[in-house]
Amino acid sequence: MSPKVTRLSATRISTYEQCPKYYDFEYVTRERRAFTPVEWEVGSIVHKALAQLFEQVRDRHRATVPKIGNAAWHKPVVERLAETLRQSVQSGEVRIIRQEVQLEHYLQQIDSAIAKFNTKVLPSLVEHKVAGIEADLGKYTLAGVEIVGRIDLVTMQGANVYVHDWKTGKRRKEDERQAKLYYFGCLAKYSRSLITYRLYHLLEEGDITETYAFPQDAKARLEEELKAFIAQVEGTQALQAKPSVLCYWCPHGSHCPEGSSFMAEHSVPSPEMVLDLGIS
Ligand code: SF4
Repeated sequence: MSPKVTRLSATRISTYEQCPKYYDFEYVTRERRAFTPVEWEVGSIVHKALAQLFEQVRDRHRATVPKIGNAAWHKPVVERLAETLRQSVQSGEVRIIRQEVQLEHYLQQIDSAIAKFNTKVLPSLVEHKVAGIEADLGKYTLAGVEIVGRIDLVTMQGANVYVHDWKTGKRRKEDERQAKLYYFGCLAKYSRSLITYRLYHLLEEGDITETYAFPQDAKARLEEELKAFIAQVEGTQALQAKPSVLCYWCPHGSHCPEGSSFMAEHSVPSPEMVLDLGIS
């Protein structure tokens, strides 16, 4: 039977593009994941630590983000989450796919991402009003379906609304589509015309910030793209497997015959290969 699309997100679309069968496991039959790749946990810990920082600012009844004097503010939070990560790796709940890479490498990535946030992002947020932390898009619909997504941070300064998104994965061509979905979602949610959407690539060197703003006609084009995507998914009789090196990171690989065959014939790719792991 053809799957009915009632909700969409940037992640759902890129999951389908990566492998329709993976989309089926995640969003149609909703199979239990066998494990979580460690790279996803790195992103999750960075997001949790940054969310706690802004929650504390808000809970102290600060109208705006103050200058944070302690560069090690994140240590207690990250140490606690890192300990949970160690236990999850030991139990197999979280998996290190590249066996030659030690857990310490991933723990260092968490520290590097937050250090970059402290030096390259936090100073630019001073005096901004915190308007949302891990906020949803509200009841936003486009192309007849609900658009779902979590916005890492929303701040306001004067008449401007700034939407901030932390990334620990590689830059991807799909980033712009996510930016568009969130940009138009926030235009509707915050009823302001001055929206700036920023993606911060916290594990990259050099300029880590990508800033997006879109003309109104981009929304009509986005809607057409979404309609075409929905028609493609709903017009499919069976969501077919599309095996690739990404099968190693797929939490459903152990009960996917096509993925299992692919992994039996191919080795884990080298770290130099640019992978889209679908993490945010
Ligand atoms: S293991 Fe590979 S082929 Fe199977 S669902 Fe996952 S990504 Fe698709």
